[in-house]
Formats: sequence, structure tokens, C-alpha cells
Amino acid sequence: MSQFNLATTNYNDDMNTYTFAVLPGDGIGPEVMEVALEVLKVSGEKFGFNLDYKNADIGGIAIDNHGLAFPDSTKVICEESDAILFGSVGGPKWENLPPEEQPERAALLPIRKAFSLYANVRPGLLYPQLTDASPLKKERIPSGIDIVCIRELTGGIYFGQPKSTKILPNGQQQAIDTMVYQTSEIERIAQVAIDTARARGSKVCSIDKANVLETSVLWRKVVNDFFEEHAPEVELSHMYVDNAAMQLARDPNQFDVLLTENMFGDILSDEMGVICGSLGMLASASLGANNNSHGHPFGLYEPSGGTAPDIAGMGIANPCAQILSAAMMLRYSFGELKAASAIEKAVEAAVTSGTRTGDIAFGLESVDTVAMGTAVLTNL
Ligand code: NAD
Repeated sequence: MSQFNLATTNYNDDMNTYTFAVLPGDGIGPEVMEVALEVLKVSGEKFGFNLDYKNADIGGIAIDNHGLAFPDSTKVICEESDAILFGSVGGPKWENLPPEEQPERAALLPIRKAFSLYANVRPGLLYPQLTDASPLKKERIPSGIDIVCIRELTGGIYFGQPKSTKILPNGQQQAIDTMVYQTSEIERIAQVAIDTARARGSKVCSIDKANVLETSVLWRKVVNDFFEEHAPEVELSHMYVDNAAMQLARDPNQFDVLLTENMFGDILSDEMGVICGSLGMLASASLGANNNSHGHPFGLYEPSGGTAPDIAGMGIANPCAQILSAAMMLRYSFGELKAASAIEKAVEAAVTSGTRTGDIAFGLESVDTVAMGTAVLTNL
């Protein structure tokens, strides 16, 4: 059943060549991408693999250059790749376009759909040395935060049909979104949560709203049955989404792996981003339904934050989220576990030794994007 297994994916011994699409996007995207590519290059030399990547436009820059946020030329490059390393898209320049043409909506949703990116894996990681970055009180998170959110990404209310707005005979406007889930969609995301939990603390909390929503009643039943049959050793609990939002703010480390549907995951994973401090540190993976030419899941890897228009072009963005996204690509899509861990350790070492961009400096002298990257490379 499992398309991949995070606990047992093997390190590749051969000199592999990995092909991936590089979509830097807008704002700080290209600035942090350049640093992440340098880190990948050095890790390839150190761990013995080749990287073969092609750049393509996505988001606002793609609208400017091709008239579309996700042009066919970009799609073809992604189709020919084993993974996508993504920056971020959007910005004030495109905010006056009709909503369906704006970079985020016109690039992110179609790319998720085109590659069946159904599983969003978002680590909520805060190093103990960075607890100042969190709005939570230090005594609640003495050793930082270490949790993961597994969010279903291609179903639920964001994609369900019918979806429409119409004018009623009484003159009022009425809008409809449809929340819909099927057994197979729930089972495959449950499997990702199981694989993730097995590689960590073996605990999954499934989040729903089963006291109100039909889809949540089904979600809870399918998750229960699936865990009972496939992972009886993984501790499974359930929580309503409103309570989960409170518990995350109260005591995040009571969770190990959170498993949830699309909209709840959107909200909870952003809350995780806030309690973990700067968006500049948070990576994410969106894994696809199909395997790549190396037998690992095709995936899209991107920072959790956006294009940061307030600091774009200044060369001061934190590149760590993009670097950690690249590490996730090595782990999930290429099976290069040692290289991925080495990059993660290098980021942690650089940050905890005091090299920090402005978003995580807290009184220390801050460095620019390139210097942050250099510190990671030195530790690598
Ligand atoms: P944002 O994430 O871009 O910025 C929020 C705050 O976090 C800003 O103060 C920013 O400076 C800071 N920040 C984010 N990343 C950082 C980094 N790497 N280093 C240092 N500081 C960082 O969110 P926003 O302002 O709401 O959105 C800006 C644009 O990004 C919008 O057009 C939005 O649509 C787009 N966006 C895109 C994505 C995506 O591509 N996946 C996600 C979110 C927002």
C-alpha cells in the first residue's frame, strides 16, 4: 500500500544524477534559491551525486514573460524532472489582477493538481536556541518545538464541486463551496502520517470536526480502520480542529504528527509557522501520487513563507527555509538521507553558533542572505 516509507528509504550507493526543476518565482524567491542551489551543489560533491536542473518561470514573473502564472513551458520542464524546487510567488505588482489570475491561485493550485501533490509535509521545528523567535512563553517550550503537520492537499473544500456564486431570485448573492472526501483519499494521506510517525515518535493525532461535518465523520472512521489494520503500533488519537488550534498555542509538543484535511491543515500549519518563529526557517514538502525515475515520490519543495515584498531585493532574506526545503527534496524524492541530514545539521549549527539573518537575530548582529548561506556551507 505504501508508495514510500520514510523509515526505510535507503541511501543510494551509486553515483546518481538527479533531475529537478528550479522555479524561483517572485520577490525573495530568486535570492534564497541561489543560496540553496549552492548548498545542494556542495552536498552533491560531498556525498557523491550529480544534480541536473533547469530553471523555469512561475507566478508573477511567468505572467510578465508568458502571460500565464503556470505556463506550459514550465509544466513540461517539471514533467521531465524528478522533483520541483520552488521559491514563492506573488506580490503587489499582480494584486490587481482578477483573483483567478493572481500568481498564487493561478500557479499553486494548478501545479498541485497537475502533479497530484496530495500530501503536504510541514515540519514545525524551532531550535531551543531560537525560542525567542516564538510568541509562546519560553517555559512552555523549553527545548524548542519539534512537530510535523501532514495535510491532505488535493481534496476537500478547496477543490470540491460545485463551487459557484449566483444571484438568487430575491436579489441576494449566494456562494457555494463543497467539502468532499473519499475513502481512498483519506487512506493514502493516513499512510503518509503513519510513515512519518514511524520515523519519529510513533504518535499521530488526527484532526477533524466530526461533531459537525459529514466529511469529518467519514475521515475519523477511515483513519481509525486504516490505523487498526496497517499500523496498530502507532498511537492514534483524535481532536476537533478548534481544540487543536488552542492546544497548539498552549502546548505544541504534546503532538508528534498531526494528520488533517486540506482546509484545517492550511490553517493549523500556518499557526505552526507562527509559533515556530520566523517563516524564514520553515520548509515544506508536497509529495505526489506518482514515483519518480528513482523510485521515490515526485515532490514539490518550498519554503512555508511567501515572497516577503517588504524585504525583497534587499539581500537580507533568510535562506534557511529554502535550504531546508532542498534538504527535504534530497530525503523524500532522491533518497539521499545522509546528505539531507548533513544539510539540516549544518543549518542548525550555523544558526545556533550565532550567524543569523535579521528575522532571527534578536539583538545579535545580523548577516545578509549570502553570509547566512556561507555559514551553512562552512558547517556542511
Ligand atoms: P510573507 O510570508 O511573504 O511575509 C510575511 C512576513 O514574514 C514578512 O514580514 C516577511 O518579511 C517575513 N518573511 C517571510 N519569509 C522570510 C524570509 N525568508 N526571511 C526573512 N523574513 C521572511 O507573507 P505575505 O506578506 O502575506 O505575502 C506576500 C506575498 O507572498 C503575497 O503576494 C502572497 O500572495 C505571497 N505568498 C506566496 C506563497 C507561496 O508562494 N507559497 C505563500 C504565502 C504568501
